[in-house]
Amino acid sequence: TQRIHEMLARNAELRPDAPAIVDADGSRHDWRAYDAAATEMAELMAAHGATAGSRVVIVAENCLATAAAIFGASRLGAWAVPVNARMTGAELDKIAAHADPAVVIYTSNVSAEAGAHAQAAGAAEVATLSGTVGLLRRDGTTPETDPEVAVMLYTTGTTGDPKGVMLTHGNLLFAGRASAELRAMVPEDLIYGALPMTHVFGLASMLMAAAHVGASIALAPRFKPAALYQALIDGATVLPAVPQMHALLMAHAAEKGVGRLENARLRYVSSGAAPLDPTWKRKAEAFYGLPLQNGYGMTESTAGSSGTRNPIGSPDTSVGPPLPGVEIAIDETVGQEPGTGEVLTRGPHVMKGYYRAPETTAAALSSDGWLRTGDLGRIDDEGRLHIVGRAKELIIRGGFNVYPPEVEAALNDHPQVVQSAVIGRARDGNEDILAFVQTADPAPTPDELRAFVHDRLSAYKRPTRILVVDMLPAAPSGKVLKHKLLTHFATALE
Ligand code: ATP
Ligand code: MG
Repeated sequence: TQRIHEMLARNAELRPDAPAIVDADGSRHDWRAYDAAATEMAELMAAHGATAGSRVVIVAENCLATAAAIFGASRLGAWAVPVNARMTGAELDKIAAHADPAVVIYTSNVSAEAGAHAQAAGAAEVATLSGTVGLLRRDGTTPETDPEVAVMLYTTGTTGDPKGVMLTHGNLLFAGRASAELRAMVPEDLIYGALPMTHVFGLASMLMAAAHVGASIALAPRFKPAALYQALIDGATVLPAVPQMHALLMAHAAEKGVGRLENARLRYVSSGAAPLDPTWKRKAEAFYGLPLQNGYGMTESTAGSSGTRNPIGSPDTSVGPPLPGVEIAIDETVGQEPGTGEVLTRGPHVMKGYYRAPETTAAALSSDGWLRTGDLGRIDDEGRLHIVGRAKELIIRGGFNVYPPEVEAALNDHPQVVQSAVIGRARDGNEDILAFVQTADPAPTPDELRAFVHDRLSAYKRPTRILVVDMLPAAPSGKVLKHKLLTHFATALE
């Protein structure tokens, strides 16, 4: 297999009638139907002016149409550019201006937001095998001549503006295989698919992994704890999620008086895309009765660089050893503590580069293939990687290094804390430590939280200021958008 759509064709041949997708509306599609839906999307794109090398923007939420469009673009040799329909019109315009697509597809069949964007853009409604979608032709784009790129994904935008990451067919095929092998997946597996396919974690660990083995996915356009709970009772076997999803699922179960998941076929649960608190890991393992595996990666590394393979109850707080075929190294010239430095990674998972940004690409990719992750970490005696935080977010207070995830973990230990986000703010030649804390009812006061973390954190790590908030600004994947905190809570901070 050289191109990602060939995985669909292979499954359509090997197991045409086996389940492939349970769509958002509950409809079931086998591999033959999935492959046919992708072929149809390729024809539609072509009929609306896309050719090999065109960018096809998919304004999407999880559904068969999104998956079909991603594989359909591959069939045509075009680049699929899936973006989340929950973005604002202005955010979308910015991406469309950068990606310069020949065609835009809107999954209005499952998403009111996609429908609204389609209407605002004057897109035509087209009935397809995977439901009615919006289609907009945008003339005047120049096809790229690079046939290796399969998908362009924009980064989350946690630290600044999203960047367009070019992922090749080789990147995605490798990521699908690595993810499937890490979980020992078989065709009978059913992945619960609530991670957005517009984010690298969902794209690789759901779409590509399932296509690699011929397993199926139950797609959820957006994450709802009650729906996940039901899917687990109904027989989902693999659950990839971000930490927040586990937290919300357990809160939902607790409301129903369920402290432990029973009668489920679930056999593999993982967490990725953001730091996993040791406390949450413990709670989640007790709830699932399974180990909670932690995986580390980023858009630029096609999701996976490393992953744990621990038994239940393991005290391991690492993100595991490198995946087979992946190299990880530490650049100790970045950061001030011996052994700790910037995480570098090299291998078949590393992106081609950032689109139309040669300087940013040159700064991130060395000539010998190493990717600078911007994350700080260390490798322990067993070869496992520990992420301590992002280089950009490192706080230096009174000359000491403060890693926000450590402060967040201390706050999250509090039973009424749902999640927290810690950032530094320069003041008088020093840095203040600001903590934004999302709480559940009854909400603890900032003073109670201050007292709570007092024994857990040495003096220089304690927050200078704690703000209790209803909701933290988050990306559709559930990741907290830290660079938005100061403006978002500007009034409260005055
Ligand atoms: P942007 O690059 O636009 O600022 P982003 O880095 O959040 O946004 P993603 O590619 O979605 O965009 O996220 C990758 C980052 O997420 C990693 O660089 C790392 O900081 C963090 N991350 C991913 N997995 C883990 C994990 N298991 N533990 C800790 N941090 C993680
Ligand atoms: Mg990043």
